[in-house]
Amino acid sequence: MTKPIERAAACTCGQLRIRTTGAPSIVSSCHCLACQRRTGSLFGAQAFFPRGQIVATEGERSTFRRQAESGAWLAFHFCPKCGSTVFWENERLPDIVSIAVGAFADPHFPPPVRTVWTTAKHDWLAFPDGIVSHPENPGTLVPR
Ligand SMILES: [Zn+2]
Ligand SMILES: [Zn+2]
Repeated sequence: MTKPIERAAACTCGQLRIRTTGAPSIVSSCHCLACQRRTGSLFGAQAFFPRGQIVATEGERSTFRRQAESGAWLAFHFCPKCGSTVFWENERLPDIVSIAVGAFADPHFPPPVRTVWTTAKHDWLAFPDGIVSHPENPGTLVPR
């Protein structure tokens, strides 16, 4: 049997880290305006891991909470030194930890299988065929 793959996601300065084992449950991208503002980029990309696959979190973090369109509260954990958001939690999905795909700094990380909030997607941005897209967040695709 092959050993489950271990990965680490980190902030830009490297002091805030989260380590995972095994494959993410789902990888998703989100075009909502809050993700655009959070990342400074055109969409957020996140990997959802079952909490049991989190090996460790290391380093200092600050937390920003905001309420999603769904009404659920989200807690974003970011580095107080460099400001990168590394991972976050959704109060309605207590068994899931969301990790910013870019924080893995791995161009070979599994690609998103769905994209949400395409109503806010920049017109010129095209995703490959075969990626399930939703105009808003259906709130149902994350395995519980
Ligand atoms: Zn940092
Ligand atoms: Zn979003």
